[in-house]
Amino acid sequence: MARNASRVSKHDSAGCIRIPIKEHLCIVNRIRQNSMKTKRLTTGADDIKEAGGIIRDGGLVAFPTETVYGLGANALDALAVRSVYAAKGRPSDNPMIVHIAMAEELEPLVLNGRESISLDALKLIGNLWPGPLTMVFPKSAIVPDTVTGGLDTVAIRMPSNETARALILAANRPIAAPSANLSGKPSPTTADDVLEDMDGRIDAVIMGEQCDVGIESTVVDMTGEVPVILRPGIITKEWMEAILGKEVRYHQSLLERPETELDPEEIIGNEDATRNAAGEDATRNAAGENTADAAGNSGSSEADTAGNSGSSAAD
Ligand code: AMP
Ligand code: MG
Repeated sequence: MARNASRVSKHDSAGCIRIPIKEHLCIVNRIRQNSMKTKRLTTGADDIKEAGGIIRDGGLVAFPTETVYGLGANALDALAVRSVYAAKGRPSDNPMIVHIAMAEELEPLVLNGRESISLDALKLIGNLWPGPLTMVFPKSAIVPDTVTGGLDTVAIRMPSNETARALILAANRPIAAPSANLSGKPSPTTADDVLEDMDGRIDAVIMGEQCDVGIESTVVDMTGEVPVILRPGIITKEWMEAILGKEVRYHQSLLERPETELDPEEIIGNEDATRNAAGEDATRNAAGENTADAAGNSGSSEADTAGNSGSSAAD
């Protein structure tokens, strides 16, 4: 059940919600016991408004994007984000992507705002957002460490899916959202896939359309001089190079993998890979192992082949 406003204490100045820790532990226990009632919401305006309210109140809502279904929480609410880890059974050092609906939402999430958003990043934003491209920036103080798995960078994406965008606008908050599957299971591309894993564990699912792309977004690190692809996806290295007029690199760990794993056609064409193709979970088939990311980036699990410092296995 959504935590309604009357049971939630008030927002602070950053829009974060303060929930008494006892209440939070109770919610986490209910997630563990699968004892929540998961609402089925439509993509209609009233239901999207309700979904936005659930997110604002610290609840969890699964929603379609053009890549896979995401499991969304208020990205500025550390406790809500912690509930995402509980619902997925996901290791809490695995950083999440923060979803925004408008370019103006980017600056407050990035350290020193505009200063840390390079000309290259602006070009990619101008050409490829909204769309399946996630960019990594130094994070500002309003982004809780729970979102980034303790990293000082944050991954941000602006989805093109209309339902996703409407939800972010209705919540009036950036939404942190990994794929809406149990950790170790394939990333879902339909609302029914989501319910298979998440019924009873989250507040609501928006029963939207099948996802178009079916593979997760390309993740590119924009914190250095040269953009570095941390996870390959539908937006290719060559595509970004054409926009930027300069070299884009793959993370070292990707270069050690078979070339086919960098090719979106191959990822999509791999029927075995997931319920319909891809993403991190698909990678475990394509790669023949149970890894979370093709690229890895900034996490710390043993399955993280990218090897910088963060992402975990099989999420
Ligand atoms: P997902 O679970 O599909 O949302 O995957 C998110 C991807 O983005 C994972 O590969 C993460 O490791 C990556 N990611 C998220 N935040 C960061 C970050 N701050 N730095 C590098 N990669 C990140
Ligand atoms: Mg996932």
